[in-house]
Amino acid sequence: MAAIKSAITTRRFDAVIVGAGGSGMRASLQLAEAGLNVAVLSKVFPTRSHTVAAQGGIGASLGNMSEDNWYWHMFDTVKGSDYLGDQDAIEFMCREAPKAVYELEHFGMPFDRNPDGTIYQRPFGGHTANLGEKPVQRACAAADRTGHALLHTLYQRNVRAKTHFFVEWMALDLIRNEEGDVLGVVALEMETGEIMMLHAKTTLFATGGAGRIWAASTNAFINTGDGMGMAARAGLPLQDMEFWQFHPTGVAGAGVLITEGVRGEGGILINSNGERFMERYAPTLKDLAPRDFVSRSMDQEIKEGRGVGPHKDHVLLDLRHIGADTIKKRLPSILEIAHKFANVDATKEPIPVVPTIHYQMGGIPTNIHGQVVAPKGGSMKEVVQGMYAIGECACVSVHGANRLGTNSLLDLVVFGRAAGNHIVGSRLQDQSHKPIPAGALDRSLERIAHLESSTGSERVQDVANDIRATMQKYCGVFRTDALLQEGYTKIMELDERRKHVSFKDKSKVFNTARVEALELDNLIETAKATITSAAARKESRGAHAHSDYEQRDDVNWLKHTLWFSEGNRLDYKPVNMQPLTVETFKPKARTF
Ligand SMILES: Cc1cc2nc3c(=O)[nH]c(=O)nc-3n(C[C@H](O)[C@H](O)[C@H](O)COP(=O)(O)OP(=O)(O)OC[C@H]3O[C@@H](n4cnc5c(N)ncnc54)[C@H](O)[C@@H]3O)c2cc1C
Repeated sequence: MAAIKSAITTRRFDAVIVGAGGSGMRASLQLAEAGLNVAVLSKVFPTRSHTVAAQGGIGASLGNMSEDNWYWHMFDTVKGSDYLGDQDAIEFMCREAPKAVYELEHFGMPFDRNPDGTIYQRPFGGHTANLGEKPVQRACAAADRTGHALLHTLYQRNVRAKTHFFVEWMALDLIRNEEGDVLGVVALEMETGEIMMLHAKTTLFATGGAGRIWAASTNAFINTGDGMGMAARAGLPLQDMEFWQFHPTGVAGAGVLITEGVRGEGGILINSNGERFMERYAPTLKDLAPRDFVSRSMDQEIKEGRGVGPHKDHVLLDLRHIGADTIKKRLPSILEIAHKFANVDATKEPIPVVPTIHYQMGGIPTNIHGQVVAPKGGSMKEVVQGMYAIGECACVSVHGANRLGTNSLLDLVVFGRAAGNHIVGSRLQDQSHKPIPAGALDRSLERIAHLESSTGSERVQDVANDIRATMQKYCGVFRTDALLQEGYTKIMELDERRKHVSFKDKSKVFNTARVEALELDNLIETAKATITSAAARKESRGAHAHSDYEQRDDVNWLKHTLWFSEGNRLDYKPVNMQPLTVETFKPKARTF
């Protein structure tokens, strides 16, 4: 460890942002344009962040194609969240949405257009007109490549603003002082294998999700939950980690996503009898009910023997009636994905689909400025000085127990901008760097030293694969006490096995074995947070469907879970039911 310590180079910035996806680059743009010295770290080239894969759209009540307003959007989001979302944050996001989207338009984002020149909008799951009456067209889209258009637009803007990118750098751990203030990160430069210290006045996490703790996932391989792992190891809580969204339509057997935009354009789900079964489960919204609802309905069809294929283990997504011209114009990538991953021509045959893990509703708790909050001295929401989190790794919480499609891209830009504004407003130029206390790096350096010297018998990929298989089997669409308990025991065993991993190749240059071993520590923290939080919640709410407790229980469980890594401990805090200006949406039964 002494050798690593003496070799560490320190670099200083006003702000360090970990993550160059949509949220990180929206925030960095704000900071760089304000003249701050900002470093953005990313494990991959910025435009390869998972945001690039977003397909269907970004939600905003522009009302370009049917009447709409932010209040209806807010109602849908609160109801979609199964009332676990904080209503102040939801109001803020839905009110800001049109402004955030027009800003992207003015940045040059190439949205699809209506004949009158306005932004094209398609219907999406759970988005309705007049408080649930009928589907509304709210998803602003660039064909089925909305995330691609968004991410490239933000990258170009950042280049113009002279943001300093550290590409293929991996943040390893947070640096905190005795008071708990955050002072930057320890990071690995993958090209050289050097360990560096990035000393900052403000640190912002925008590290994205952790869908790779499951075996079948729509997520990129880099989505290993590093932000959650770093926060957990530094003593910060993770909020609502039991809530993971299964997207109804992953390509069966491959996991690759087929956007909900397909159903927005008129695609329907059918079972082995050729029946449009969603009409039975959600008579009003049908195939456009929210994702938790549709995923459970599909699972039910499969359970009751109406699945398709030799093992009757999936259903079909039929878009033939939309017509080849519209499919080619509005859904070109879907045509390609269906061909490459399911070997079907979607203009002539339905696509085999199955619910697949897609998105984490939980994450690092924050307020509406993106500041990380944690329990301290009697308050449940004490601001952690010098630390922000935004995007999928954060829990503000606008998605509650279930996210509506298109609300994540929106969350990225609304809270990326809000956090950027808040940081700029805190006048970092006038502040000096807080000193790094002796020993502040020890925990992180010990972790690296242990890995370098380990001769343990476990292989990184075996432990990682076993985590994924365990989460898949014991923490799926439907959960039971017995399943969760068994899953919990297995994840704890894997936490022990993880301590004995080693890798043979100790070379420094682009050593992916080292990177994967470091990522494993983050996978396990995220998996522990998830299964521990899930095993404790004795109700069904949003994406947490518990077969032993089928009802939502607002008396005992209308509260946010907080999980702490130390002692694998849980705590709870109230949901903020008080919006900023309108009246509370009181919990009601969710029907569609
Ligand atoms: C296939 C797919 C389709 C989707 N479609 C839609 C859609 O149509 N509409 C919608 O609203 N949402 C959609 N979503 C969800 C949405 O795209 C994501 O939630 C969102 O893009 C996440 O953005 P982010 O900025 O939080 O993180 P990401 O875009 O995931 O970026 C994370 C960044 O963090 C970096 N990073 C991570 N760990 C480290 C580390 N240790 N050190 C340094 N850098 C690190 C990565 O390199 C990357 O730059 C989709 C998601 C998927 C998977």
